[in-house]
Amino acid sequence: MLLAGKKGLIVGVANKRSIAWGIAQAAAREGAQLAFTYQGERLKESVGELAGSLNPNSPLFECDVQNEALLNAAFLGVKNAFGALDFLVHAVAFAKREELEGEFLPTSRDGFQMALEVSSYSLTALAQRAVPLMASGGSIVALTYYGAEKVIPRYNIMGVAKAALEASVRYLAFDLGPRKIRVNGLSSGPVQTLAARGISGFTDMMKIVEAKAPMKRNVELAEVANAAVFLLSDFSSGITGETLHVDCGYHILGM
Ligand code: NAP
Repeated sequence: MLLAGKKGLIVGVANKRSIAWGIAQAAAREGAQLAFTYQGERLKESVGELAGSLNPNSPLFECDVQNEALLNAAFLGVKNAFGALDFLVHAVAFAKREELEGEFLPTSRDGFQMALEVSSYSLTALAQRAVPLMASGGSIVALTYYGAEKVIPRYNIMGVAKAALEASVRYLAFDLGPRKIRVNGLSSGPVQTLAARGISGFTDMMKIVEAKAPMKRNVELAEVANAAVFLLSDFSSGITGETLHVDCGYHILGM
């Protein structure tokens, strides 16, 4: 029960394949009480059903990270439901589908802005609202990918957005360290999810990892989730500003 007595907010559940949902299940197993957000009306019922399967009283709030009013309302809801927050999971990303194929060169101005706003700035927007609820300290974890560090063909604008996300993790960790709030990135290997299906050639990415990664396989969602629990728990109390790779070792390769 690594998270016994802790209250957390999970942002980014779309369906049962979502990394955020894997993390929610593992966090609940470890004793955490969870609140959830959903992106828009179309997801309210499905995210509500998943959240309710862990606890029928799980607080659930609409939150499109591009909408300041919804962000404020969601955190007011969390404050009213929980009073305080011990952890936050950021598992949100978006880019135009046509910019996740072919070359990076044609990336549009509005596509760049949207990808960076939803996938990178959102961490800061969420942290601004979570911090006042973390008066006794806390842990923030953001999901990222190796395409932030090295070129992954077709990951394109999302690689740039993840690089900004990982830099945001470090700057937030610096600001929030004195307040006993830790901020870390969790760099997951490829996992079959809705967002992943939007990346052209994603199945090939999984085949390459299986062939080349030191562990000769892809990572399981449960492994990503357990690593997230570690970062959310007091077992990682000395770690902040880090990007933890949970990718069967793929990131150590030069060739
Ligand atoms: P997912 O299930 O599709 O989750 C992505 C989430 O982002 C969805 O809940 C999506 O909601 C939400 N989202 C998009 N735009 C949003 C907005 N404006 N406001 C609020 N939420 C918004 O896919 P996932 O793979 O689990 O992705 C979770 C995180 O893990 C992402 O940051 C992703 O980049 C990262 N990651 C994934 C992999 C992988 O291989 N799957 C690897 C490394 C890192 P909608 O569905 O309604 O848009």
